[in-house]
Amino acid sequence: MRSKKILLTSHCIFNQNSVVEPLDRARGAFSFAKDIIDSGVGIIQLPCPEFRYLGITRKPMNKEEYDTAEFRELCKKLFEPILEDLLIYMENGYEFCGIIGINHSPTCSISDRRGILMEEIFAMLASKGITPNYIEVPTDYDDKTFNDFAAKVKTFLKN
Ligand code: SF4
Repeated sequence: MRSKKILLTSHCIFNQNSVVEPLDRARGAFSFAKDIIDSGVGIIQLPCPEFRYLGITRKPMNKEEYDTAEFRELCKKLFEPILEDLLIYMENGYEFCGIIGINHSPTCSISDRRGILMEEIFAMLASKGITPNYIEVPTDYDDKTFNDFAAKVKTFLKN
């Protein structure tokens, strides 16, 4: 029955409890998480490096403030086992659909100013010859007011 498709997502797409307290945009998972599940892809939820680094009571910080050798090392360490798993899937004919990140996050943004986790992930993937497709949750996304993103996710997962 398996789709043989694998998707990586930023952690907080499925768990808004992990974000800095004033910035949560849904009760738990974003509502479009249902569309991801319905698409039939296998989901690998990336860890939340900010949570791991500074915990749940952390204050909002920018990329410069997070950009320490220690935080970069943590990001690399967190992605290593995921990369190992991903390579096993790909070596066995599974399709890597790409990554869903969080735009304008100092850690998980992909376009504009890339976040630190994504910089490390893209470098580690590039070292294996992999250039992932990606899409990002826009800054103005909110479960109550902005649902166009669900359609974009569906299109992304069809490609
Ligand atoms: S670090 Fe990434 S996963 Fe964690 S809350 Fe920020 S955007 Fe979400």
